[in-house]
Amino acid sequence: MIVDLMAESWEDISQMNAEKLVVFLGIAPIEEHGRHLPIGVDIYETNHWIHKAAERLDSALPDYCFAILPTIPLGFADMGQFPGNIHVSRRLIFDVVYETTSAIARWDVHNIIIISAHADPLHAIAVEQACEKTNKEHGDICLAPMGAIFNLGPEDTSAAEPSELPAMQRNFPDDFHAGWIETSCMLSILPQYVKSDYMKRPNIVLQGREMTDGQKVAAAIAGEGHIGFPKLATASLGAELNNDMAEKIKTAVCCFVKREDFARYMKHPLHDILSSVPL
Ligand SMILES: [Zn+2]
Repeated sequence: MIVDLMAESWEDISQMNAEKLVVFLGIAPIEEHGRHLPIGVDIYETNHWIHKAAERLDSALPDYCFAILPTIPLGFADMGQFPGNIHVSRRLIFDVVYETTSAIARWDVHNIIIISAHADPLHAIAVEQACEKTNKEHGDICLAPMGAIFNLGPEDTSAAEPSELPAMQRNFPDDFHAGWIETSCMLSILPQYVKSDYMKRPNIVLQGREMTDGQKVAAAIAGEGHIGFPKLATASLGAELNNDMAEKIKTAVCCFVKREDFARYMKHPLHDILSSVPL
């Protein structure tokens, strides 16, 4: 069963079988995504992935209830001075996730899944740190798998053959922000929100290590706001990407719910390095 948790009463929730309840919570920023995409991209993607993953989970684990909370519209989204961008601190992300998951833990929920389409490692790791703290206090009840999922290799792509995805991932990597990946996802989910001139946006290429140099990023994206190759986007690539993400989230949640081999979904590869930076 899949339920919209906001539409339930406290009494409804008290009658749910806590052992078989999985609560989904999204947290993603309102953030500029270039000239061609709306500032809500990460929230639209987060909601879509949660719902698609919940559908797959409902088929895989029919005796569970997948209860979806609204997505918190906050993120560490340090994309500079574009109108529409709302960047908040890692400290706030940590506090919001820690206090929210602690509150849910007091309902006696044993499975809280935090999802975000915002791939910034500093955002993902602040969420993971908050889950770590809640888990220290309540046992392992929180899983924030996106830091791990975003960093799975192409070999973990679930796409059915024939697929356009592996070649795109090989030939056009470093598509960090509002490039072919996010533009494709949006063409598949909400094409009416993608400006038709996305095909005219220039390629803006930065290597992974250049992404940590704020000045370099600001200079590269000035006047545009994206990093990558938006003109290569297609709705069919987006459908593949969204299906792949839903499948990966489903797999991670199945592992967590069964408490089997879930540790690999708990940490971004940079977690141990970046979590030592003060919030
Ligand atoms: Zn985004």
